Amino acid sequence: MDTLEKLATLSRDSRYDLACSCATAENEHRRRSRDDKWIYPVILPDGGTTYLFKTLLSNECINNCRYCPLRVGSDTCRCSMTPEETATAFLDYYNSGRVTGLFLSSAVSRNPDSTMELINRTASLLRRSGFRGYIHLKVIPGASDAAITHSVSLASAVSLNIETAGEENFMSLSDTKHYMRDIIGPIKLISRLTAKGCRYDRVKQTTQFVVGASRETDRQLISYSWNLYRNLGLSRIYFSAYQRGCGSPDLPGENSPVTNAELLAREHRLYQVDWLMRKYGFRGDEIPVGVDGNLSLETDPKEMWARAHPEFFPVNINTDGKQRLLRVPGFGKIMIDKILTARGSGSRIRSLDQLGKVGRVMGKSRGYITF
Ligand code: SF4
Repeated sequence: MDTLEKLATLSRDSRYDLACSCATAENEHRRRSRDDKWIYPVILPDGGTTYLFKTLLSNECINNCRYCPLRVGSDTCRCSMTPEETATAFLDYYNSGRVTGLFLSSAVSRNPDSTMELINRTASLLRRSGFRGYIHLKVIPGASDAAITHSVSLASAVSLNIETAGEENFMSLSDTKHYMRDIIGPIKLISRLTAKGCRYDRVKQTTQFVVGASRETDRQLISYSWNLYRNLGLSRIYFSAYQRGCGSPDLPGENSPVTNAELLAREHRLYQVDWLMRKYGFRGDEIPVGVDGNLSLETDPKEMWARAHPEFFPVNINTDGKQRLLRVPGFGKIMIDKILTARGSGSRIRSLDQLGKVGRVMGKSRGYITF
């Protein structure tokens, strides 16, 4: 294979790794540009879009993660790129203005440290060439503390996929990786290295859950996410619905009665919860789940919370503070800014129509507000 053929294969195999913010808008993370298949759109914090060069260094893996199409023994086209090839290809795209940064991951070809060394060497080549832009490096489960620290020193962001919530669930996904030693330990190490006031505090850490591959519940995923944000300072958590057909026949997700469409709906609900925890002041233990431990697929989590807390309502649009307004179903930050602006100008708000067109989402607030 030449470099472009290898890139086509390796970037295709990197597409379900979201932990680089190639996600957030609906199905955004599953889209690639039409011409160069290794260029992925990324949503910026301000809502704009930029493009990352996203690829694996290798898809040859010694591990057996049962949800992964690249696991050892699965029948797929295998190849690897050298750090030099990858750095050169990236710089061609960067210098022609088609990408702004790099997301680099890899399957585990020989052992975690040798794989990590290849990833780090690629990043070193780019830094030594003068590239100061965005580099997101995947941390390989089981890599040594020294290799992980080297990655953190080179990267703008790093991620190690947690995959599921808890050791028991993890054991149904892989028996070549150890949850506490290979996943949780390194996430904690990165958290210490990048904590506020520490040497690498400019570096962001993200992670990803595969939703529905094991028997984890939403309650477990929410609890783990809350702790990752609150106690370990992660910047973002991504959720990727397991899509049946990729994994090993003995994977719990392959044998569950849940459809792929329901799993995508579950992924969407988890992103809504993530948003409530990060932006709307909800604690993880406030999010309502059903007796089975899962979120409602029919009703969004904020509305479920409002239905369970009639004592909190009505919220007064003209007098209540921002934290109370944020709890009203159908109200987003833009709407709340409009309310606060109107109030700041001395106007009394007498109806929702005064604030703009009342669509289906904003209409949800009726019954929870007063003027
Ligand atoms: S380590 Fe696991 S998830 Fe990563 S490529 Fe190998 S089999 Fe897939």
